[in-house]
Amino acid sequence: MRRPVIAGNWKMNMTPSETKVLVNQLKTALADAGDVEIVVCPPFTALAQARGKLMGTGIQVGAQNLHWEEAGAYTGEISAPMLTDLGCSHVIIGHSERRTLFGETDADVQRKLHAALSHSLTPILCVGETLEQREEDVTRDVCRNQVEAALAEISAKDLAKIVIAYEPLWAIGTGRTATPEDAQAVIGYIRQVLAEKFGDAAEHVRILYGGSVKPESIDGLMAQADIDGALVGGASLKADSFAGIVKFGGQE
Ligand code: PEP
Repeated sequence: MRRPVIAGNWKMNMTPSETKVLVNQLKTALADAGDVEIVVCPPFTALAQARGKLMGTGIQVGAQNLHWEEAGAYTGEISAPMLTDLGCSHVIIGHSERRTLFGETDADVQRKLHAALSHSLTPILCVGETLEQREEDVTRDVCRNQVEAALAEISAKDLAKIVIAYEPLWAIGTGRTATPEDAQAVIGYIRQVLAEKFGDAAEHVRILYGGSVKPESIDGLMAQADIDGALVGGASLKADSFAGIVKFGGQE
């Protein structure tokens, strides 16, 4: 059994003061959540606030990015030891906004993944195709290439520590969710790619869907055989909508 994961990517939203309000609301809204791994990923400047308020609640805190070096002359960057010292447990790696807006390459993603693993941070590795690539019918190739590049030097033992998020770019922030069947088709394919390299270990990897997930769309997604949760952007910024997603299937 793969334990579901619902992770909220707050992106560049929420000051520390706003974070204080939202996490207090989340604590109440999620107090009766079922057996789901819940993660919130505020911006770097609000991580300490979020972690301080959420300690002991079971709601974990992740970052949205990291640098692969531990320390040094990298102005403006944040390292894995800085995140673990704050109490972060997860880190998003290779989000499409980082790949497209900030030029992050597959090689960067691979280095970041190794940095996270060597500091016991759970990486949430994002992959996904653009609308153009979907229309050219190369979705599978794109996802295969991104997964294979990121995991080229990963052992089967470390694979179990990684969460993958399939996020088609055309569904991110657009209000357009992939149908559960479309998402399942690609996520099932990603699991098959993992199985080719890692064998049975592929069955234990949590693979999430991300892209305009809402409380109304989560049940259909979670009913799919290979979908193990969601990476949520916009809907994670309101306690009631995030809680509605965490409590998919009417579970308490
Ligand atoms: C995301 O950015 O990871 C995301 C899934 O965003 P949204 O839910 O807003 O589409």
